[in-house]
Amino acid sequence: MPLLVMKFGGTSVANLERIQNAAAKVKREVERGYDVIVIVSAMSGKTNELVGWVEQTSPLYDAREYDAVTSSGENVTAGLMALRLQEMDVPARSWQGWQVPILTTSAHGAARFIDIPRAHIDQKFAEGMKVAVVAGFQGVSPEGRITTLGRGGSDTTAVAFAAAFGAERCDIYTDVDGVYTTDPRIAKKARKLDKIAFEEMLELASLGAKVLQTRSVELAMRYKVRLRVVSSFEEIDENSGTLVCAEEDIMESKAVSGVAYSRDEAKMTLLAVADRPGIAAAIFGPLAEAGVNVDMIVQNISEEGHTDMTFSCPTDQVLRAQTALDAAKAKGSIAFQGLVADTDVAKISVVGIGMRSHAGVAATMFKALAAEGINIKVITTSEIKISVLIDRKYMELAVQALHDAFELDKAA
Ligand code: ADP
Ligand code: ASP
Ligand code: MG
Repeated sequence: MPLLVMKFGGTSVANLERIQNAAAKVKREVERGYDVIVIVSAMSGKTNELVGWVEQTSPLYDAREYDAVTSSGENVTAGLMALRLQEMDVPARSWQGWQVPILTTSAHGAARFIDIPRAHIDQKFAEGMKVAVVAGFQGVSPEGRITTLGRGGSDTTAVAFAAAFGAERCDIYTDVDGVYTTDPRIAKKARKLDKIAFEEMLELASLGAKVLQTRSVELAMRYKVRLRVVSSFEEIDENSGTLVCAEEDIMESKAVSGVAYSRDEAKMTLLAVADRPGIAAAIFGPLAEAGVNVDMIVQNISEEGHTDMTFSCPTDQVLRAQTALDAAKAKGSIAFQGLVADTDVAKISVVGIGMRSHAGVAATMFKALAAEGINIKVITTSEIKISVLIDRKYMELAVQALHDAFELDKAA
């Protein structure tokens, strides 16, 4: 039997009616002759609520228990989806991660797949089951504890199942009808892309475009999964949505193909750090050990043996970062006068494989921001992206200004 993976995100399973709508789409594919693996997210808002409960109970929580709590939202939707399909006379069964079992590393809160043994699910398909409903976002560690894959992780569950079961395609059903030049909720002029290259999608995702989890794009690229983003709320056909594909299959040749933003970014500055060889290692070593994901780094010119060191990290890791740096200071391994956390910042990035061959992208970007009176606090670049940190209050304005400056509303 040909097999499809269909993943439904939080808004697509937000209530019983939406689950019914999603189940009807699954049933249609079964009627077309497919076996289907359905991956479900928790109902929208549920995971945020669970994370909130964990943080209120224990600010520097034990990550194993974070996973025990936050994985539960998907268990509910998986069972409900299987029940709804059964009510529609579609033979369906649900699986939680540990039942498959979806084997992952024990990096709680950011686990990676080790293996997805097919035996259980294959056997059920052989016995006549048409749909396997699998709870997204979760797995089980070698120690036998429940793990989660990081926020948005159900996308990655979907791609991993598509790879493991050799699915014809992996369709990500969500609340937008594809991948746009930027978040259509922020820029009205955002344009839907028929296709996007893996490399660009990877950058957009890692720079904040929530539409796909970064790791899901990595896996799709590595295992050559046909990955498509489509709407849960429209009738779809072969040509709907956005296909994530190899660079060679793309016709567009613009320097910039998308703008991403992340409001989940904090800027931390260590003031008057005693400057000496090895100081960066002494600062960033303890941060890495504490599990802080440092993104941008800027070191000022040293004056009289002192310098300011600025870095950015996710907002929810500020407390961890402060604790680690204060501990290093108390131990005497680093010396600094103060630590300032600025959580009112946002990161805006422009992305495009065309940057490899077009000059002047940075200049256009900085000019567009200057024209709006937006001050840039930190800049980083790579081969196919430029990111800046700005005051969060200008985030939407910056996204729109850059979308206009690079004329992303027009096809190349
Ligand atoms: P789901 O719950 O289905 O996983 P998400 O909220 O994780 O959905 O992702 C979909 C959202 O991603 C959209 O509602 C949209 O606001 C946001 N988004 C950000 N950037 C983009 C983009 N470039 N194209 C499409 N959607 C985007
Ligand atoms: N429910 C999880 C989250 O909100 C995983 C997902 O929806 O992909 O992050
Ligand atoms: Mg998502």
